[in-house]
Amino acid sequence: MEQVVIIGTGCAGLTAAIYAARSNLSPLVITGTMPGGLLTTTSIVENYPGFPEGVDGYDLMVRMQKQAERFGARVQTLRVVESVDLTKSPFVLTVDGEKIETKTVIIATGASHRHLDVPGEHLLEKKGVTYCATCDGAWPMFRNKPLVVVGGGDSAAEEALYLTRFGSEIHLVHRRDTLRASKIMSARVLGDPKIKPVWDSVVTEVLDPAQSKVTGVRLKHVKSGVESVLPCAGVFVAVGHVPSTQLFRGVVDMDVNGYIIPRKGTATNVPGVFVAGDCADHVYRQAITAAGSGCAAAIDAERYLAKHAE
Ligand code: NAP
Repeated sequence: MEQVVIIGTGCAGLTAAIYAARSNLSPLVITGTMPGGLLTTTSIVENYPGFPEGVDGYDLMVRMQKQAERFGARVQTLRVVESVDLTKSPFVLTVDGEKIETKTVIIATGASHRHLDVPGEHLLEKKGVTYCATCDGAWPMFRNKPLVVVGGGDSAAEEALYLTRFGSEIHLVHRRDTLRASKIMSARVLGDPKIKPVWDSVVTEVLDPAQSKVTGVRLKHVKSGVESVLPCAGVFVAVGHVPSTQLFRGVVDMDVNGYIIPRKGTATNVPGVFVAGDCADHVYRQAITAAGSGCAAAIDAERYLAKHAE
């Protein structure tokens, strides 16, 4: 019987693991298919306190995992929770076919990339359509070619800036005429001669599945309705995230968008089940806020266990 199982190893899950491990709870940590979470796909993280020069996102997550393991967290890499039974205590998780019983669960499953859901997008995934510039931007197919980034937030800004190393020009397609990105990132993007904003426009189709590669995007101007084709060799989609909470639907309370609703602190409507990080946060969504809530979830779980000790 486990004391606490943590599902997810982004900033929230690994911080929860550090705190739970230091409370001698020997937490079992299930990484899922993306150990380290979304931060591993970013380049330099400049706003995580304690790193005045910035820190590589992947390195930060590796360090967090080492820190958790140093205190006794058991991190099971690439194992996936297939189903959960949270209707009675102890809870039962099915992990790659194995049943695991636990007294508490910390859900830290984060969020995944939102898709555009336009024709051509899915057919051309990995053939020029990608959701991560730092993972895929260096591919030869993108070198010295025009590229498109879709979105207007910090992720889109970061992707566009990163891609200036590889593409001939970067078209930043945004559905409004101002960026949502933070001021510092917006200023960098708008001041970069290689980045050309395409305002008030949405991508309606990715071309050309018949050629099995990206040759351009069909655009629609949202105010005039005028359609056009913008030639490019790659489409980098950065239009936000959707919470990864499908496993808990119907049992753990969530809002219409699938974000888990914490009740008091990090507690959910299910006693003994706690939540941390982006799967419950559609407001702040920062590495440091995820880490903070992971810390809180571990403390809440520890107090719950102390209160319910037999
Ligand atoms: P975000 O802030 O939610 O921005 C998503 C962007 O995509 C918005 O500009 C949105 O347009 C646009 N969008 C959404 N759905 C769309 C659709 N179907 N078609 C076209 N455009 C669409 O997401 P994010 O940029 O991934 O950032 C998430 C969080 O992580 C934020 O809090 C951000 O500050 C943080 N972050 C920080 C950094 C950093 O500090 N360096 C880097 C990356 C992310 P509207 O603006 O019109 O809504």
